[in-house]
Amino acid sequence: MELLERSAIPATDRWNVEALYPSLEKWEEEFNVVCRPQQRPHWPELAQFQGTLGQGPERLKDLFIALFTLERALSKLHTYAHMRHDEDLASDPYKAANAKISFIYQDFGQEMAWIEPEILSLDEQLLASYLKAPVMAPYRIYLERIVRFKPHILPADQEELLALAGSALSTPGRAFSALNNADLKFPDVVDSKGESHPLSHGNYQLYIRSPDRTLRQNAFKTLHGAFTHHENSIAELLNGLVQCHLLNVRARKFPSCLEAALFPHQIDPAVYSTLVETVRRNISSLHRYMKVRKKLLGVDELHMYDVYVPLVRDVDLTYNYQEAEQMVCASVAPLGSEYQQQLKNGLLQERWVDRYENKRKRSGAYSGGCYDSMPYILMNYHGTLRDLMTLAHEAGHSMHSLLANKRQPYHYSGYSIFVAEVASTFNEELLFRFILEQEKRPEVRRFLINEKIEDIRATFFRQTMFAEFELKMHTLAEQNVPLTPTLLKSEYRALNEAYFGPDIVVDAEIDIEWARIPHFYNNFYVYQYATGISAAYAFFEKVMKGGGADRDAYLNMLASGSSDFPLDLLAKAGVDMRTPKPVESMIRIFDELVEQLNLSH
Ligand SMILES: [Zn+2]
Repeated sequence: MELLERSAIPATDRWNVEALYPSLEKWEEEFNVVCRPQQRPHWPELAQFQGTLGQGPERLKDLFIALFTLERALSKLHTYAHMRHDEDLASDPYKAANAKISFIYQDFGQEMAWIEPEILSLDEQLLASYLKAPVMAPYRIYLERIVRFKPHILPADQEELLALAGSALSTPGRAFSALNNADLKFPDVVDSKGESHPLSHGNYQLYIRSPDRTLRQNAFKTLHGAFTHHENSIAELLNGLVQCHLLNVRARKFPSCLEAALFPHQIDPAVYSTLVETVRRNISSLHRYMKVRKKLLGVDELHMYDVYVPLVRDVDLTYNYQEAEQMVCASVAPLGSEYQQQLKNGLLQERWVDRYENKRKRSGAYSGGCYDSMPYILMNYHGTLRDLMTLAHEAGHSMHSLLANKRQPYHYSGYSIFVAEVASTFNEELLFRFILEQEKRPEVRRFLINEKIEDIRATFFRQTMFAEFELKMHTLAEQNVPLTPTLLKSEYRALNEAYFGPDIVVDAEIDIEWARIPHFYNNFYVYQYATGISAAYAFFEKVMKGGGADRDAYLNMLASGSSDFPLDLLAKAGVDMRTPKPVESMIRIFDELVEQLNLSH
């Protein structure tokens, strides 16, 4: 089907961006008032505070008020410009508006760059008195987020030196990306009929799910073989990466690489160790799934290249957009009638969503908006089950924003990534249960359950295994053990044997899999996939099995925005990620799904 021009999309299918500014001219007017593009500094009202923050908490409060007022106005301007730009990436007026506001953001960054260093340079006792001052009460958590870095800040000349090294220290990540995306070439792979197919990262995902076992096996062996040919270079890149982390750890006096990486996000290292220990204690759940998988596939030996192939024949499920919004709205009933009504208004009346693809529209999907707007959702809806789930996911983010914006002042209305994916995953799960409850056809039910099991395996078990490996690499380096390919391969093999258990053949090629995982270059990031899904499912169980108090605690957590540290927000609502319980409930849900799949055959 030929894509339409943006101008041919009916207003009812577009997001209501006019609610922000009725026209680009109105946007320009406000831009000139807020940003004063001809003037330097653009914002003397910020600059006048420089050098005076030691005068007392009153002074700091006044600076915060000026800063937040400006930031809030800039984010409104930015929201409009980037949304208009995303509608048609080739539209010159909106491209220009988006570029203008982006440049102004850079100036804003420069003009406020002095603030945090000046706060951190204040004497410790003075800062302690600021934190206690009644006038600071509405900003205390905000200030604490800055002040907690003080023990790890170095004298100004040393900070400058570290900043200078920044670009050099990001070489390992960039070098891996160049190798992985540009330089590395794979030979063709042959299927069971002797036909050959080109191999690439994208195609690999298709081949490894193919019912043709020969194709799966050849793709698996060829892809990993190519990485084995570069094992020394890639091990050196990971070595270099870990050494960069160690430099930061030792310069800033953190106890370990893990603690340095979790510190900015205010995450207790106990969350990490609890995740890993709890998964290990319950790893027989994944073993059991492998046993079921082996049985359902009907193979004598289950191999590593048999892990991704769907156990159920693909069923073609499609939903038009009107069905999708009805289902998403109906599925949130367990969150109460007020929540449901707000979402209905948003999707059906207020036009939060830009529904369909048009020529040159940004691909993918996101939830956006700002403090002074409704939540907005960009979709490229084509009617697949994945699209339907994406709408539920983004609507979960949007409702989170709506609740937090309503309850919090501007500076606490955002939320950390650790909490963000709880709201979206929760709503995906609501929709999944809603569909499953209505679905009577056994083959479709099996398909849905299989999809969900695979989703949990990939997001929860696989990412926890990665988290273990990442920690192992860093711990070894902290003990001055060199990361050789032989060592990395044997460590990675041991993890695979422990995770997948006795019913699978751990093929030799898997030993090198670590060499192809781009996420290892994002300093201790992967564990968040596993903790995020665990927290979401723990809340899901509480709300579905509990009473109104559990539901209100959950909604209250969403409405709290960033007015407290993320772990404390979750714990107050009844899900403490420092304890094994949320991870255990995740595993229990996985067990139940595997059992259902097993019995349904
Ligand atoms: Zn998300």
